[in-house]
Amino acid sequence: MPPAPPFPHLFSPIRVGSKTLKHRLNFGAHTANMSAEGLPAERHLGYYLERAIGGAAMIVVEPVPVHRTAVLTRGNFRHGDDAVIPHFRRITDACHEHGTVMIQQLYHVGAHGDFDLSYQPNWSPSGLPSMHDQDGSHAMTRPEIEELIEGFAQAARRAKEAGFDGCEIMAAYNALFEQFWSPFSNRRDDDWGGAFENRMRFSSRTLARIRALCGEDFVIGVCVSVDPTRPDVLSVEDQQAIAAWHDERGLYDYVTVGTGSYFEFTRLMPTFVYEDKLGPPFAERIKEAVRHAKVQSESHIRTPENADAVIGAGQADMVSIVRGQIADPHMANKAREGRAEDVRPCLSCNQMCWGRRSRDYWISCLVNPSAGREFEWGGDRFTRTDAPRKVLVVGGGPAGLEAARVAAERGHRVTLAEASDKLGGQFRFAGMQPRRAQILDLIDWYERQLTKLQVVVRLNTPMEPDEVEGFDAEVVVLATGSQPAGNGWQRGLPTVDRLPGVDRPNVFSVEDVMSRAARPGHRVIVLDDTGTWRGGGTAWHLAERDYKVTLVTPDPFVGREIVRTSADWPLRERLRHLGVEFVVESAIGEWHGDGATVVGLLDGSERRIDADALVLATVNAPERTLPDALAGSGREVHAIGDCVAARQAPAAIHEGRKLALEL
Ligand code: ADP
Repeated sequence: MPPAPPFPHLFSPIRVGSKTLKHRLNFGAHTANMSAEGLPAERHLGYYLERAIGGAAMIVVEPVPVHRTAVLTRGNFRHGDDAVIPHFRRITDACHEHGTVMIQQLYHVGAHGDFDLSYQPNWSPSGLPSMHDQDGSHAMTRPEIEELIEGFAQAARRAKEAGFDGCEIMAAYNALFEQFWSPFSNRRDDDWGGAFENRMRFSSRTLARIRALCGEDFVIGVCVSVDPTRPDVLSVEDQQAIAAWHDERGLYDYVTVGTGSYFEFTRLMPTFVYEDKLGPPFAERIKEAVRHAKVQSESHIRTPENADAVIGAGQADMVSIVRGQIADPHMANKAREGRAEDVRPCLSCNQMCWGRRSRDYWISCLVNPSAGREFEWGGDRFTRTDAPRKVLVVGGGPAGLEAARVAAERGHRVTLAEASDKLGGQFRFAGMQPRRAQILDLIDWYERQLTKLQVVVRLNTPMEPDEVEGFDAEVVVLATGSQPAGNGWQRGLPTVDRLPGVDRPNVFSVEDVMSRAARPGHRVIVLDDTGTWRGGGTAWHLAERDYKVTLVTPDPFVGREIVRTSADWPLRERLRHLGVEFVVESAIGEWHGDGATVVGLLDGSERRIDADALVLATVNAPERTLPDALAGSGREVHAIGDCVAARQAPAAIHEGRKLALEL
């Protein structure tokens, strides 16, 4: 008997409106933020094409603003301008070649716009303030409402002329549709507000106008979200009633269901602190309410295994996995071909996707630095070299792992030497922090790939300069990483090169704690000079083990550098829950061996905090022994990652891939 096909629920076709999707694993809407002068260009084309080649059944190309008051990001598309049509046509034509159904998302976020990008007042049903900046909004007049309906319709017409198979209206996260639906934000007393049917008028008029303009064959979807943590947004029962009402009238062909809202960003793209499959329970509720429309579930579905389970359990008709397919554009094909173990796992870290988008850069990916660079790096597929060489990679952290893997993918003969008994470098310690096991999954993935690629991995092999010199290799890649600086230097006191008392007993590094080399006493001060998971995650790790933790930071709040990933609030929530005390806008003036003098940076005040140990979460120092010794050796030597400058993992993996592409 032939083996059962993998993920049978996920990989079965489905009809959505007039189109048949080849299976049910889609690449849903998200802002890639890559436009050049408001037009989708090479970066966009390469990005979406790679996911079409990788097998996504349906791609929802990121939201296009439907009106001058809707512009929300710098890398977004022009609103109200037919000039976008031929540029989008290149993307739809290229992706259609791979049998992908192409949808364009259309948006207006009403009160939550951004004046810095639109230079327009935000238009909303009743003039409520934005929930994510300090601006108020303008209550639309009746002609302005009609103007916006036509804005949506014309944007849909443009999408159709650009070759899209349909459009999806962004009603999630309290966007304009939802602002009309919700009595919280719709306080109008004309026929656009008040009674339920009146609050449905804006969405139903818009959807009907799109249908009239674009025809029966044009797929129409709507994207909604549920945020059970907020009493001031629509409940799941409200969303059920709204979905049922639209469904009865045949106003859309599918509805996408996500989580979170602009009132509370952390569930929009849930990081690893949240459980897997956050969205499906809500999709299931919407599915109960509709009879005609197909239901797509999103939000932390992550893996083909999860996706198949969601479909199999009847929670949704199809799923969107966005971050998973940013991390591995070929997820669908690999899973379909029975190679799910080759899917490079997303870390749910948001570091380079939302972490870049939230700062208005184009998005990329920590584990897949080709994301957004497909047009220049040739996608997540590697051209074999015609001149294979012997390559020695020293150091098995993220930089060395990626360099070794990609060099081997390209046909080079690679040996990887690692001093310790495990691969992963600093990344393994990060993977041992609470809820970060996805990092260990990624290291396992590297191990599997290196084995398949026949990379010779030598553990317990600390290389001395003469050993590298004597090694039979044509190219040497040094990825020796970094070490704790050990001097206690802090940003808060930048002229103090060495923390007074740093040589006294009971001072440990994050690495000492996470590798369990340290045996700190009960009361621990974590000096978090980084504002990242390095300090925050270590404090969490200790607090979970019943240490009494005080976190000292020069920043005004804990987790300042992870605000960009929308994970700072959940981190603080958990630390508080575990009893961690926060001492902000402060630095350590001196360590006494049994306590610290803590300096308030606002007023220079000093106080003593008794403690059994001080843990330094400060910036590391590059491990330069080999790079310095081999400089001028006459051999081809490259240094990458932390041994060049101590940074976070994205820099290491980026440099590993970039170098290996050039070898
Ligand atoms: P990066 O982020 O640049 O990859 P890491 O610090 O995470 O850096 O990893 C560097 C790895 O290099 C560590 O696993 C470390 O054990 C290893 N390493 C450092 N020096 C040597 C050496 N001389 N020989 C072999 N391995 C080394």
